[in-house]
Amino acid sequence: MKFKRMKKADLPSFIKELMSKGIVVGPVRKPGGGYTFEVLSEESELALDYVASQTPPKKFLFPPKEILLEFYDSEVKPVFPEGGFIFFGLHPCDINALLIIDKVLTSNYEDPYYKARKEGLTIIGVDCKPEETCFCESLGTFKVEEGFDIFLRESGNYYYAYIATSKGESLTGSPIFEEISEEEARRVEEESYARYKGMVKVKVEGLPQRVDELFEQEDFWKPLGDKCLGCGNCTMVCPICVCFNVVDEVNADLKSGRRVRTWDACTLPAFSLVAGGLNFRPKILQRIRNWYYDKFKIFPDEVGRLGCVGCGRCVKYCPAGIDIREEIARMWGEKP
Ligand code: SF4
Ligand code: SF4
Repeated sequence: MKFKRMKKADLPSFIKELMSKGIVVGPVRKPGGGYTFEVLSEESELALDYVASQTPPKKFLFPPKEILLEFYDSEVKPVFPEGGFIFFGLHPCDINALLIIDKVLTSNYEDPYYKARKEGLTIIGVDCKPEETCFCESLGTFKVEEGFDIFLRESGNYYYAYIATSKGESLTGSPIFEEISEEEARRVEEESYARYKGMVKVKVEGLPQRVDELFEQEDFWKPLGDKCLGCGNCTMVCPICVCFNVVDEVNADLKSGRRVRTWDACTLPAFSLVAGGLNFRPKILQRIRNWYYDKFKIFPDEVGRLGCVGCGRCVKYCPAGIDIREEIARMWGEKP
């Protein structure tokens, strides 16, 4: 790791330089309030003091809707996307989330569409200012050790750059960056960790075993099933959920069309509907239980990490007021 810093006043020229090298995606303010990740058309759009965006940056690597192939009669043409994104301003939780979905989408089966979008990806992270809904402290996901090219920490009049890759090195090669000692960089790092203290705590040690023990206990899941609307919002905003559906859209000529992939959610009734009209999770209780089981048991079993980074988006955007932190507390028999 190398360490440099640049004056805050030099940030716009750094962004401009990045925009000359690729498609820069960063957090911008939404007209109605809140934040979203978008392709920047000018550096002034960047809102670096943002709080968690409603939809995570994964949407550029795994879009809500994408055409996989087009067909006409027996002629089939795969549609491959292009990459080359420069993600600027990702918070530590979203960098950790990308590391997790990368394992899901490249381990047993490599998703060629995700892979094409990820080609040439550059990630520049930035420290965040946690909100009331965040709980990354308990999950340790406020720290990033990998999964980025450069990570920026704000202190005084500077952005301190933690440079993890040769790409990061070449991007910080201009004279606006000056070298600093590791000692200074580590001091700023410790200072920055202090901002993540004081969040609501959740107990994650032993959670996979605990959720497994609870799976068959319907009494535990009933209050959750009674409250949940089965709307799928929690999945749509989660930086880790990557379930999808694939449908063929046929044109009126009944010969041509396209194969489309869209985000899906295990909390939605049609997710578990199979041929013949059988639904193997007809009740909301079964579906929301599956969501928790997947995150806290299947993910650790399959990819070695919990399927949650504590970003708090599902807490913020659940219309029924379900709070994953309170549900974890209930799993341990604690009062939320
Ligand atoms: S489960 Fe909720 S808190 Fe955890 S990563 Fe997904 S949206 Fe964020
Ligand atoms: S957002 Fe809330 S109500 Fe909607 S499916 Fe998720 S937990 Fe249920």
